[in-house]
Amino acid sequence: MTRKYAKYITRAKKLGALEAKIISPKTIVAAEWVRMKCQFGCSGYGQSLTCPPYSPKPEETRRMLSSYKYAILVHGSAYTNIHALIPELEQEIFLDGYFKAFGMGAGPCQLCAKCAKFCRHPEKTRPSMEGCGIDVYSTARANGYPIKVLKDGDRKGNYYGIVLIE
Ligand code: SF4
Repeated sequence: MTRKYAKYITRAKKLGALEAKIISPKTIVAAEWVRMKCQFGCSGYGQSLTCPPYSPKPEETRRMLSSYKYAILVHGSAYTNIHALIPELEQEIFLDGYFKAFGMGAGPCQLCAKCAKFCRHPEKTRPSMEGCGIDVYSTARANGYPIKVLKDGDRKGNYYGIVLIE
């Protein structure tokens, strides 16, 4: 069944991912504490239209996830432009007829120096997984991918994005 999505794994790698896999959205964890970490302790809070308080709350994300059966989880390094990769992959999946395709990336959008009232480049940006209340640690680990808390000066991070397919 998931073989028909194999080309998206190849495409994600061509766009700069280390690897990618087709997963069940049931393995994506959305938790209230993630929102708290955005609101208290992140300097990006309220700075981008793709971040809280503008992005979906964990409960909304959980409800949205329940309407999908398949997703592609994309694993990148510090050198992978997840922010650019995810909207492009989402668009390709959408144009293949998967009309529900929707992506989420990593980190705040930094395409503009400052956000406008309405997004200037809606086709080029998506909310981050964590900004939508997704526990990226638990989600990556549940799918066999590595992730750890980064300490000062440690640049070998693992970064993730996702496109919900159908
Ligand atoms: S594209 Fe520009 S306006 Fe839109 S979310 Fe990103 S920084 Fe803000």
